[in-house]
Amino acid sequence: SADKEKTSSVAKIKVVVRKRPLNKKEIAKKEEDIITIDSGSSSLTVHEMKLKVDLTEYLEKHGFVFDAVLDEDVSNDEVYRETVEPIVPAIFQRTKATCFAYGQTGSGKTYTMQPLPLKASHDILRLMHHTYRYQGFQLYVSFFEIYGGKLFDLLNDRRKLCMREDGKQQVCIVGLQEFRVSNVDSIRELIEKGNATRSTGTTGANEESSRSHAILQLAIKRSVVGSESKPARIVGKLSFIDLAGSERGADTTDNDKQTRIEGAEINKSLLALKECIRALDNDQVHIPFRGSKLTEVLRDSFVGDSRTVMISCISPNSGSCEHTLNTLRYADRVK
Ligand code: ADP
Ligand code: MG
Repeated sequence: SADKEKTSSVAKIKVVVRKRPLNKKEIAKKEEDIITIDSGSSSLTVHEMKLKVDLTEYLEKHGFVFDAVLDEDVSNDEVYRETVEPIVPAIFQRTKATCFAYGQTGSGKTYTMQPLPLKASHDILRLMHHTYRYQGFQLYVSFFEIYGGKLFDLLNDRRKLCMREDGKQQVCIVGLQEFRVSNVDSIRELIEKGNATRSTGTTGANEESSRSHAILQLAIKRSVVGSESKPARIVGKLSFIDLAGSERGADTTDNDKQTRIEGAEINKSLLALKECIRALDNDQVHIPFRGSKLTEVLRDSFVGDSRTVMISCISPNSGSCEHTLNTLRYADRVK
């Protein structure tokens, strides 16, 4: 990956790790922060506490290097600048970009992901109103989730949706509501509405949302000057994906059948996603979209001029060590 970056002007895949601060509960339990970060060299070390056979403790260090490593003092604004901001101009030039948040439940995926579409639309609208004024560009928002392999519209009372392919590598989600927006306030309202819809579950907000992938898409369309009555065509797209809790993919031996089915689906989709990103990075002609609903839905974002940003979120506490190592190994393989 490092070599590829040197030879191509823009990296297609960028992998960023974000560590959240210890929370009150972890501090009260006197848990230790086991992650050290050297942002200068974009490297990170996990200090794993292990036991010898005679029960004496020793530390095992695991080192990783990514495109960027963000410590607990980094603000959401800085996360935006590091991840999405550089790719916003490209979506006016036919690029499809996707930003994922990956990590265990409670590691900060939603905290990281929620402000990004708003900041991005702010920049998109500024470009539309200034640089690209009078050029017929329009901005559309849609927001849906994948739960148990099925699609639900978060901007239309969680209506069930189905997907169709048009034979030209375009995916069409039948019935998905798209809203044309021209200011940041109306985008904020839509995002809040979608988030509220997402958390209305029977088992409580975090529990429910940790089992679904939430997908917010900003589409740039353009109507041909002189034929404004015809439907505008998609130019570029920016997708924000708050993935299901990565630990949920391991729920495949749970006693509850529904939980097991959902766990298997999540596991399948996270594996398929990794395979697709790796195939993209290697410039493979064949991208294995068919592996899951998630990758099928994202199919048109993986072909042509595409960009991918993976933000891997990690918890700093010793109790999360195993999940943290799993997250970092996943990120390492995507890189
Ligand atoms: P996830 O979506 O991965 O389950 P959340 O985004 O809901 O996790 O984060 C869990 C908790 O930690 C929330 O209360 C959130 O506000 C807090 N949190 C997450 N990341 C940060 C951060 N970088 N700085 C401060 N608080 C954070
Ligand atoms: Mg969440």
